[in-house]
Amino acid sequence: MSNNSDTKVASNFIKNIVAEDLKSGKYKEILTRFPPEPNGYLHIGHAKSIVLNFGLADEFNGKTNLRFDDTNPIKEDTEYVESIKEDVKWLGYDWDELHFASNYFDEMYKRALILIKKGEAYVCDLNADEIREYRGTLTKPGKESTDRNRTVDENLELFQKMRNGEFKDGEKVLRAKIDMASPNINLRDPVIYRIAHTEHQNTGNKWCVYPMYDFAHPIEDAIEGVTHSICTLEFEDHRPLYDWVVRECEMENVPKQIEFARLNITNTVMSKRKLKKLVDEKFVDGWDDPRMPTIAGLRRRGFTAASIRNFCKAIGVAKASSIVDSQMLDYFLRDDLEKKAPRTMAVLRPLKVIITNYPEEKTETFKVENNPDDPSAGTREVPFSRELYIEQEDFMENPPKKYYRLFPGNEVRLKGAYFVKCSDVIKDANGNVVELHCTYDPASRGGNSPDGRKVRGTIHWVNASTAIKAEVRLYEPLILDESEEQGSDSFLDNVNPNSLEILNGFLEPEMKNAQPGEKFQFFRHGYFNVDPKLAGEDKLVFNRIVSLKSSFKIKK
Ligand code: ATP
Ligand code: MG
Repeated sequence: MSNNSDTKVASNFIKNIVAEDLKSGKYKEILTRFPPEPNGYLHIGHAKSIVLNFGLADEFNGKTNLRFDDTNPIKEDTEYVESIKEDVKWLGYDWDELHFASNYFDEMYKRALILIKKGEAYVCDLNADEIREYRGTLTKPGKESTDRNRTVDENLELFQKMRNGEFKDGEKVLRAKIDMASPNINLRDPVIYRIAHTEHQNTGNKWCVYPMYDFAHPIEDAIEGVTHSICTLEFEDHRPLYDWVVRECEMENVPKQIEFARLNITNTVMSKRKLKKLVDEKFVDGWDDPRMPTIAGLRRRGFTAASIRNFCKAIGVAKASSIVDSQMLDYFLRDDLEKKAPRTMAVLRPLKVIITNYPEEKTETFKVENNPDDPSAGTREVPFSRELYIEQEDFMENPPKKYYRLFPGNEVRLKGAYFVKCSDVIKDANGNVVELHCTYDPASRGGNSPDGRKVRGTIHWVNASTAIKAEVRLYEPLILDESEEQGSDSFLDNVNPNSLEILNGFLEPEMKNAQPGEKFQFFRHGYFNVDPKLAGEDKLVFNRIVSLKSSFKIKK
């Protein structure tokens, strides 16, 4: 599967490893996998991993599996499983095989027995605190549990009893017998099976012992024949254990674990646990809230799959952690929609204008190109008459210097229509401006100067009698600070209380045909998406995806 309009991925160290492994004949064909835990919705960080794994397979004619890493007995994951499948597909990728890690529980159990029989795993009675204490530190070697000397028969019998449900949660664990003095703490007899009397959403009550991630993951990869198991940097120190499990469990296929730096973005929290908190504590309206960095949220906001893929390719793959500016994603959205999105005029904070010298009964229309960058997008008729709406911010009674928009006595161009001059300001009892009176110059039709006289400002407008009402939602970052603090919940203090502004604006009449998910460029305001969830029979809701301007530039 390839997406033609996409940018190419620059060379990176993982691509080089794959190319080398194919050249040397270590692997004939590559198989990668994307292994989400179904405990939340996918976010843009996952997109990086998806684009990397599926992208490698595309480039080297290999395959990619989607595997749900559901070895933790957790509940209510079907919503997450479905959303993950939908999001991967929406991003433009198709997996080769779909797997659930829990389907390998029997196989994992057998492999654990192999370890026990070889004297490489033992049942240990220490509790979690004791295990931690015995483990030692970076500077202090670990201490061996007395259970380390249990015989193979004793271990087989105890493990069987663990499996039979004869012990309570935490009463016993199965540990790999590796090296309590290893400089790598992950190798100091890691726990590989624990007891949990919890029903599993897939296997029900069949099991009350569950494999730990570090034991399960390499076996899952090896069973499927994954060649390159790509994960994030925090697993780098686990790689010796990964390799140990593959080797000592006598797996036929030998996958290679490769680590890369996870994606971090400014003003964005990116772990499912934190995102779930934002949902559960109602800071946002669900996982697909347009302010969320989830794929579902970005999609609803209006980000295109191509913009997300291109962003993921452009940020690169590296070993060093860094924080990517959120404006970079905005850049790729503009880059994608510039050519695709029809232009339209929308007034978000309306101010009524009456053209006093325009005939009362008259209406005319202007033929306007839908996209000046794309003639094939066609044209539309924009009506004009005596009463219009303009943007409140396009008028100032007492303007500062260099304000070229409307003010008393000043002339501006109504985009594509006429020159108008402000002649009167109408206020309510409180002194608020409620209406403007203007005169127009009939000779400036089409917005062209009749006699060479210049106007400095061009403002947009919507014809009042034919305008369509719409709700327009503007967004600011959900999180106010720049970077996410690992592991802490202090991000909740940094939730922006003003991340959503809801306006009631006016649109051109053509917009009545706008469909959920359709994207437009509102002149001067930015790119907008018809919210697919809030759209109703007679209601149009637009999400601003990004504004038009940004100082952020990318070298191509
Ligand atoms: P989270 O902390 O958000 O739950 P996770 O790593 O626990 O993330 P998984 O569902 O286990 O989430 O991840 C599936 C895959 O996505 C893993 O291979 C993981 O490395 C990758 N991944 C998750 N977050 C990021 C990120 N921010 N950047 C790059 N890859 C990521
Ligand atoms: Mg996780």
